[in-house]
Amino acid sequence: MIFEHQSYTQRVVFGAGTARTRLAAEVERHGAHRVLLVAAPSAREQAASLTASLPMAGVVDEVRMHVPVEVADAARRRAEETGADLLLAVGGGSATGTAKAVALSSGLPIVAVPTTYAGSEVTPVWGLTDDGRKTTGVDERVLPRTVIYDPALTLSLPVEMSIASGLNALAHCVDSLWAPRVNPVDTALALEAAHALAEGLPRVHADPAALEGRSSTLYGAYLGALAFAGAGSGLHHKICHVLGGAYDLPHAQTHAVVLPHVLAFNAPAAPREAARLARALDAPDARAALDALYTAVEAPRSLRALGLPEDRLPEAAALIAEAAPPSNPRPVTEADALAILKAAF
Ligand code: NAD
Repeated sequence: MIFEHQSYTQRVVFGAGTARTRLAAEVERHGAHRVLLVAAPSAREQAASLTASLPMAGVVDEVRMHVPVEVADAARRRAEETGADLLLAVGGGSATGTAKAVALSSGLPIVAVPTTYAGSEVTPVWGLTDDGRKTTGVDERVLPRTVIYDPALTLSLPVEMSIASGLNALAHCVDSLWAPRVNPVDTALALEAAHALAEGLPRVHADPAALEGRSSTLYGAYLGALAFAGAGSGLHHKICHVLGGAYDLPHAQTHAVVLPHVLAFNAPAAPREAARLARALDAPDARAALDALYTAVEAPRSLRALGLPEDRLPEAAALIAEAAPPSNPRPVTEADALAILKAAF
């Protein structure tokens, strides 16, 4: 065996109720006196009860998917005006992403309290969108110093969004099997994560108010995002990156729709990875297992339904073929990319 594995320093607290019982102590560990909350209006109520005893300096509540540069600039100005010394992100990947944009320019530490399964909180990856083009980069300053994973906070996430977000997490697992920095440590994390997600998501679907399914799903989301942080963006992420940036499609739903088509494309060229994924999913065949899971949880299945105009498929295919990573188990021509997009459409 020969491999390289990068891990990052981060403190993680996991458990139902921990956002309420542990947040103040975790903020105090950073010696913070002026906390700037970054949370969408939908998280305001949740955030207000969590921050009641914290030394708050202000709030950024303009939070949008893929972090438009004007949103990032406004949040950065708010951090300066308020003299913030710590960023507290409460919400999904959009809230975390907005806090990351501020940390990128200011170096302020982030404490993240995720309320979806997006996983941004464990990656040093930032993203900004300017004029329909999404730019991403890696910078350890944006990696939250502490994450509090409280499955109870995900109970309010509507079931359709929960399923899409959980499948976004599963995409982190699957794509890390052939990502540019693939390595056995991240593969082990990805497979354990896939197992937890395949167990958790049907339970979330059947009973969204039960903590057991939420806990498994959040645990899987955490591990899957770690695998993604280590292994990098494979073909699946390149496709979703193009679609998300250029056509403003919803992030989690786009990942959910595209994943089975990337697996179908790559599995024949990566039989060992596909077999290991099948074992993690407790099934003889990974593609069939994914299909059964999608049916069980009523997953989103169509890019058309997400609002992608059909006449944009060829230009998207060209962008994808350009971006496909050399680590992919098989080459990706423009015609291949178009076929994947058409199938997902
Ligand atoms: P999101 O943060 O936009 O949340 C989706 C919707 O759910 C929003 O309307 C939000 O207000 C609502 N919501 C969130 N938590 C809720 C809760 N508990 N109860 C009720 N409503 C809730 O979407 P997301 O899928 O979590 O994140 C997507 C963004 O994250 C994208 O911009 C994506 O690029 C980014 N992302 C980045 C990374 C990374 O490594 N940098 C990884 C994953 C995602």
